[in-house]
Amino acid sequence: LEAEAQADEQNNNQQEETIRPQRLSDYIGQKDLKEVLDIAIQAAKSRQEALDHLLLYGPPGLGKTTMALILASEMGVGCKITTAPALERPRDIVGLLVNLKPHDILFIDEIHRLTRMTEEILYPAMEDFRLDITIGKGTSARTRSIPLQPFTLVGATTRVGALTSPLRDRFGLIQRLRFYEPDELAEIVTRTAQILQTTVTPEGSEEIARRSRGTPRIANRLLKRVRDYAEVKQFGEITAEVAEEALELFNVDPCGLDWTDRRLLTVAIEHFRGGPVGLETLAAATGEDAQTIEEVYEPYLLQIGYWNRTPRGRVATAAAWEHLGYTPPDEQLS
Ligand code: ATP
Repeated sequence: LEAEAQADEQNNNQQEETIRPQRLSDYIGQKDLKEVLDIAIQAAKSRQEALDHLLLYGPPGLGKTTMALILASEMGVGCKITTAPALERPRDIVGLLVNLKPHDILFIDEIHRLTRMTEEILYPAMEDFRLDITIGKGTSARTRSIPLQPFTLVGATTRVGALTSPLRDRFGLIQRLRFYEPDELAEIVTRTAQILQTTVTPEGSEEIARRSRGTPRIANRLLKRVRDYAEVKQFGEITAEVAEEALELFNVDPCGLDWTDRRLLTVAIEHFRGGPVGLETLAAATGEDAQTIEEVYEPYLLQIGYWNRTPRGRVATAAAWEHLGYTPPDEQLS
């Protein structure tokens, strides 16, 4: 059974890699980001230097890892992928740094979670491509410097404000990823469907796109669920109706809100008359982690105008009341 589960996972990973865009020109949306990076790539190439260190921030699933891999393939260099929690001991980061080849990309996800020691090793590495290592203890301690190959650090975070300023200041480029527009998501769904050899009509792609919370990772996941449904029910192609039926079955509502989104709104409305309610109070009342609410759920609710952050706390807007079938109180409508 375990072998089967492993084979499944491997299959899934392989499929992920075929879906992932490989070049900047295949990367849909994020126009501003692509323009900035295109210039950085051309400049670095003509100077035969490593790309500037780059910090990407924004909600999960918007394509930060994908972008790091694209940068590596555009630069013709390797890409090492890791995440801050895997770099707890100094030797973890040292091991990665000394093995980088010239101009390689080192991608660190959740970079706001680095330990202080790891951060301090990164400062001279980023600035001067140098590793400062302390040998011995107490009065006999000495520092030795080891040169590193020039490399590019690509950091990803959902919380740019949680980075220490010395770390943030060492990135030459700091770029935000935005939620995708429905037409961009529809393009992503159509592209993925082609790769998966599934037929989806333009309206079918649009229906999936509308329910994807502005997030490519969700769009691709919903497409796979809808494809399963269409296959089992023997529908030849994914139309808007098929997508709608399937996604209703999977509890994805017409604007893409999932169970937790709806629960946050419902608790704010039913228990706190729509707010203002403090983040910690809301976390306790819903049993969700405050940080997860802030980084994963709120950004999209804010984006679609269902949520407000005020100095006195979080507020569910009149649009949210109406979406969930409640009548907003008068003061909400004014
Ligand atoms: P996290 O923030 O959690 O690291 P992420 O932002 O790095 O997530 P990815 O894993 O890079 O997200 O992207 C999720 C999937 O969405 C990718 O496998 C890729 O197939 C698809 N995808 C992301 N961005 C795009 C895009 N701009 N065009 C087409 N497909 C995309």
